[in-house]
Amino acid sequence: MHKITLIPGDGVGPEITEVVTSILEATGVEFQWDIQDAGEDVYVQEGTPLPQRVIDSIKKNKVAIKGPVTTPVGKGFRSVNVTLRQELDLYCCLRPCKTFKGLDLKYDNIDIIIVRENNEDLYAGIEFERGKAETLELINFINSKTRKSIRIDSGISLKPISVYGTERIVTFAFDYARKHNRRKVTAVHKANIMKHSDGLFLEVARGVANKYPDIEFEDRIIDNMCMQLVQKPELYDVLVLPNLYGDIVSDLAAGLIGGLGLAPGANLGEQFAVFEATHGSAPKYKGLNKMNPIAMTLSGVMMLRHLGENQAAERLEKAIAEVIQEGVYLTYDLKPSNSSNAASTTQMGVEVIRKLNNVA
Ligand code: NAD
Repeated sequence: MHKITLIPGDGVGPEITEVVTSILEATGVEFQWDIQDAGEDVYVQEGTPLPQRVIDSIKKNKVAIKGPVTTPVGKGFRSVNVTLRQELDLYCCLRPCKTFKGLDLKYDNIDIIIVRENNEDLYAGIEFERGKAETLELINFINSKTRKSIRIDSGISLKPISVYGTERIVTFAFDYARKHNRRKVTAVHKANIMKHSDGLFLEVARGVANKYPDIEFEDRIIDNMCMQLVQKPELYDVLVLPNLYGDIVSDLAAGLIGGLGLAPGANLGEQFAVFEATHGSAPKYKGLNKMNPIAMTLSGVMMLRHLGENQAAERLEKAIAEVIQEGVYLTYDLKPSNSSNAASTTQMGVEVIRKLNNVA
């Protein structure tokens, strides 16, 4: 019996989570779900979107699976997702992007692993609001110490990237590559412009790469990387990126394999692991029972492997592949546009369970 913290999230999170937990239970693995609500509604009821009880539950159970949580744009509470990653030191966001057979896609052989640094960079949450006394103090300091002139009506977000943080994320990428027989790690950066943050990232990455002579290493500047991924994604294997580029490239790579409905992920640290899809809470689809449950289910497959339930993980992955290849019970995002016979979230989940019961 695995005791797991279950965070249904908000937006489309709860309806997807309900389907995903029934799929995970259908593998035969036994779970005891410690359900912890977080997000918009919790903010209204409890005055915080991420009560301490949620963090305590993950600290106790060590493993969590979570639905997406909304973050207000430009104002309001801080991201629950970012806070969780920082509080639990989940320094690595691992996002495999692999094409399933049977989909009508521009590419049919994508197999890219994204290793995103999860705590530093512009996501650190160190921000100075326009007009505040401390912001003006910072601007005065910068203007007096550099030959730059920051306008006093500026807002400022800081981008810290450390040797410590870079060493451990790049080491994670190389260890992952070695363990999973991958041939190459590509470090992604903008070191030509941001010499002391991305430049440091690249320098440290090169140093780590020297310790892994069996694995090829190369680097790409982020803008070129985006173009290369669209033009010749088959050249890429494991990508390691600072936080913001990792966030953006994750969605780009999801687009290559058929969309966010198929892109899973895991937030990993030394002590805790939180499994969640790459996608967000897609609020406009809330309550429609039409979103693809596979991204979160595949995050569940990653969780099963983390728990040592490898056979169940393989069976579930095979069941998902069969449902997709058959092409009948697919949610709208995987159907040709204007298709009127898309399956609902629930129907696709039921079909995965039906296949799971037939998979040897
Ligand atoms: P989103 O990922 O929620 O949705 C973008 C679009 O992708 C949707 O409109 C839909 O077309 C498609 N999509 C997403 N998930 C899908 C699924 N399961 N099946 C089919 N199609 C799917 O991105 P957004 O609209 O930019 O963000 C909405 C909210 O989610 C924001 O508040 C954002 O901060 C938050 N967010 C949370 C997380 C997280 O909880 N880890 C991650 C990303 C965004």
